[in-house]
Amino acid sequence: MTESWISCEEVVESLFEYLDRELDNHTSVEIERHLERCHDCFSRAEFERRLRERIADSGQQQAPEQLRRRIRDMLERF
Ligand SMILES: [Zn+2]
Repeated sequence: MTESWISCEEVVESLFEYLDRELDNHTSVEIERHLERCHDCFSRAEFERRLRERIADSGQQQAPEQLRRRIRDMLERF
């Protein structure tokens, strides 16, 4: 890992904010650069993105916090 790159941990921690576009521009760009190079994080981001699309499509609003926690547990087991 080069010093200027953010770590996988930082990407995972900021992933939800990134997908919600709640991050500042600089951090988003850092994450995008990381995702381009890191297959693991890219897979996680894609997985999460698709899951969100599916939830949005089905119009479900059930316990988002609980869902988040479950996803986070899942990701940590990778
Ligand atoms: Zn990574």
